[in-house]
Amino acid sequence: MDVKPQYDCSKCPAYCCSYDRIIVSKRDLSRLAKHFGITPEVAQRRFTKTVEGEQVLRHQKDKYYGSICMFLDQKSRRCTIYEARPGVCHEYPDRARCGYYDFLKWERRHQDNPDFVPLKKG
Ligand code: SF4
Ligand code: SF4
Repeated sequence: MDVKPQYDCSKCPAYCCSYDRIIVSKRDLSRLAKHFGITPEVAQRRFTKTVEGEQVLRHQKDKYYGSICMFLDQKSRRCTIYEARPGVCHEYPDRARCGYYDFLKWERRHQDNPDFVPLKKG
């Protein structure tokens, strides 16, 4: 990206990691397999599930968003496989602004609380 990012992931509880469909390509699977010292087949079974014909990362329960990628550390809100994360995670948000971060900044200003995180309802 040429333009300086207008968001700061270190101040966000990783909303983008709560997306249901974080696609895992064959290349991503090989990277994950290498990272964990297992075969791509085992990585596929252990870390992914099939949704509408696509391989996506499995989730775990999450206090903010209901569910979130299994690789997110719940305390630090950081990716535990940063170097081996899928290509889509690497690319996101693929532009200078992140819509969620803009929303978060607005809410935090509005609530006068720099740590405020809007919880997902229901
Ligand atoms: S939602 Fe935006 S600011 Fe938050 S971690 Fe993802 S890219 Fe970063
Ligand atoms: S692999 Fe890492 S960056 Fe990608 S969704 Fe999971 S926790 Fe987030």
